[in-house]
Amino acid sequence: MVNVEEVRRAALRWALKNALDHGGRAQAGPVISKVFAELPQAREIVGEVVSLAKEVVEWVNGLDRAAQEAALSELAPELLQPPKKRVEERALPDLPGAVEGAVVLRLPPEPSGYMHLGHAFHGIVNYLYKEKYRGFLWLRFEDTNPRKVRAEYYDSYRDGYRWCGVRWDAEKNNSDDMELYYQYAQKLISSGHLYVCTCSREEMSEQRARGYSCSHRSMDTSWHLEQWDRMLEGRYREGEAAVRFAGDPAASNTALRDPVLLRIVEHPHPLKGDRYLVWPTYDLAVAIQDAVCGVTHVLRTAEFMFRDELQDMIRERLGLKNPVYVEYSRFEFEGTPLSRRRIRELIEKGMVEGWDDPRLGTVSAARRRGIAPESLQIFVRSYVALTPSRKEYSWDLLYAINRRVVDAETPRLFFAPNPVPVEVRGLTKRVVKAPLHPSTDLGWREIEARERLYIPRDDAAGLRVGDRVRLKYLTNLRVTDAGGEMLVAECEDGGPEPGLRVIQWVPEGSRRVRVLVPKPLFRGEEIVEDSLTIVEGLAEPYEASLTIRSRVQFERFGYCVKDSEDTYILTHGI
Ligand SMILES: [Zn+2]
Repeated sequence: MVNVEEVRRAALRWALKNALDHGGRAQAGPVISKVFAELPQAREIVGEVVSLAKEVVEWVNGLDRAAQEAALSELAPELLQPPKKRVEERALPDLPGAVEGAVVLRLPPEPSGYMHLGHAFHGIVNYLYKEKYRGFLWLRFEDTNPRKVRAEYYDSYRDGYRWCGVRWDAEKNNSDDMELYYQYAQKLISSGHLYVCTCSREEMSEQRARGYSCSHRSMDTSWHLEQWDRMLEGRYREGEAAVRFAGDPAASNTALRDPVLLRIVEHPHPLKGDRYLVWPTYDLAVAIQDAVCGVTHVLRTAEFMFRDELQDMIRERLGLKNPVYVEYSRFEFEGTPLSRRRIRELIEKGMVEGWDDPRLGTVSAARRRGIAPESLQIFVRSYVALTPSRKEYSWDLLYAINRRVVDAETPRLFFAPNPVPVEVRGLTKRVVKAPLHPSTDLGWREIEARERLYIPRDDAAGLRVGDRVRLKYLTNLRVTDAGGEMLVAECEDGGPEPGLRVIQWVPEGSRRVRVLVPKPLFRGEEIVEDSLTIVEGLAEPYEASLTIRSRVQFERFGYCVKDSEDTYILTHGI
């Protein structure tokens, strides 16, 4: 004998499974085959099975992904595959001229502000290449501007890279080699490649903008050497003298128009104090350090391109070896500014709370929000290209990866946003034992249910007298009164069935929590007014046992991180 109810339940299981495996849409064909494979006797009523399966598939396709998953996780958790963590292992594009075991790379952060995701991705790209070629990676702080550098940022970069899973082989500061820059400068002044100029900053900008050189450039070498000594001795004040590169004052690449390579900075350095007055600029320090560190490949994004030529020329004049420059695509996320200047502006205007505000693209924000470092690595591996393109990525791409990475270890709990009480007549006190995860073994929790419980307002709003709904792991119910601020329903024992929406619920005694829901700050150039909303609700009592920083999936709501005793941050949806 064929049991039609059994056929219906089988069709529901396989339709949910098929939908979840295929982006939310099930096909009747495969569902019917599965039903016949499971229940061979059902072939006696082929016509009925087909129409039943079609009906079930149609209903399942009308559910969103979270509802499909909620239903299947109760009905047949064994069919719910824990998502595969790794996407296809994508091979990194080869670096030009790279030889295994002989590749030297460097991370050059300037410890002058918080680390954003662009820095993190740069760190990861370098690290992945170091691994690919079994090379060597330097962490080198570009800290020769005492006015910009702050002591606390050295550690924040170290922590940030470590958190991203980036491991480096050696570490140094550009400020460690001041004597070396002085020696090279002396050499370049003697050979006429650098000159001392006492023009004002305004005069220099004027010359560089209009493409001519000043009279200092043609002075005797002895005069320059003498002024150089005077600079080192502190006989010039800041702004009164600088050492410039004897380049091409009218070069089309403006970086070559006699830029300043050493200048006086009357400001203590966080590591060196006031031991030095004359500091190399970024270009001189990097040009020398890349050679000193034996860097073979410089991985960089397009905005640094115009500096390559200057740095190469400096090294050529010193007889040092040039690295190969490799341009990679820059990563940006839509609606999320990465520049420190813009982020500082947002903080100053009070539009965000601080550097770790969950709407920002800083590493501390991503971390606080619950993005796993492994997800960043997979993201880079999946999307890095050695091209000059600059692409804005959708946050959804990163979320999709993060979901795969964190899902299996993230417990699932019930949360009722904007809860509405339900009086379930006939529901006697019972303890429900519910798994913390439907497909990986994270253990169980117990929820004690009584006549009075709470469901999400969105679910309650759609219910009319006579409607039926399933409370996950607990019971089915039929609504008998849906008039006011409260629902009254009758308990109908039974299992999940097609047509019955599965919703979460929380018992009396649940905890009041709030969830911060961050969205991108900008839509195009326009600031989004409600980029951070707060959802209040009740979380089932087990929530109290979660420690701060724990991840949780509030079923049918989203992945969240516990940020404080009563506050969560939404990482992303389900
Ligand atoms: Zn001058």
